[in-house]
Amino acid sequence: MPSYDPENIFAKILRGEIPSHKIFEDEHTYAFMDIMPQADGHALVITKAGSRNLLDADPSVFAPLMATVQKVARAAQKAFGVEGVLIKQFNEADAGQTVYHLHVHVIPRPAGTLLKPHSGKMADHSLLAEHAGKYRAALAEA
Ligand code: 5GP
Repeated sequence: MPSYDPENIFAKILRGEIPSHKIFEDEHTYAFMDIMPQADGHALVITKAGSRNLLDADPSVFAPLMATVQKVARAAQKAFGVEGVLIKQFNEADAGQTVYHLHVHVIPRPAGTLLKPHSGKMADHSLLAEHAGKYRAALAEA
């Protein structure tokens, strides 16, 4: 497996070199909107520590990562009025991974709706900004 590349797009987001629609941040993790959402409210939670994916990560990152995933998933229920929240995570290209910095997808699933394609169409930034705001409001109420 290749080694971690600190020039990947999520590392650049973490360093503030490229913009993102932020939802939440703590010492170990950062949550923001996926630019090509598979459903309204599709969010990503990333570790601040750099690893390609779950396979090369130091296990100490998993507890804070999943704590933030749970926080964002609960906020998704409130912000997007859903009961169902899909959590998914890809490891290496054969499994569908496209960005090589450990991340977890948090996708609200309204009943009876289909997901759009993975890494499909870019959403309007105004819509992503609105959805990030809904998340932040839900988190502020929690
Ligand atoms: P993976 O396939 O690696 O699990 O997912 C990478 C995700 O990152 C995809 O869902 C894709 O839409 C998203 N993505 C790719 N480039 C960017 C970007 O520059 N900004 C944001 N916010 N999301 C991105």
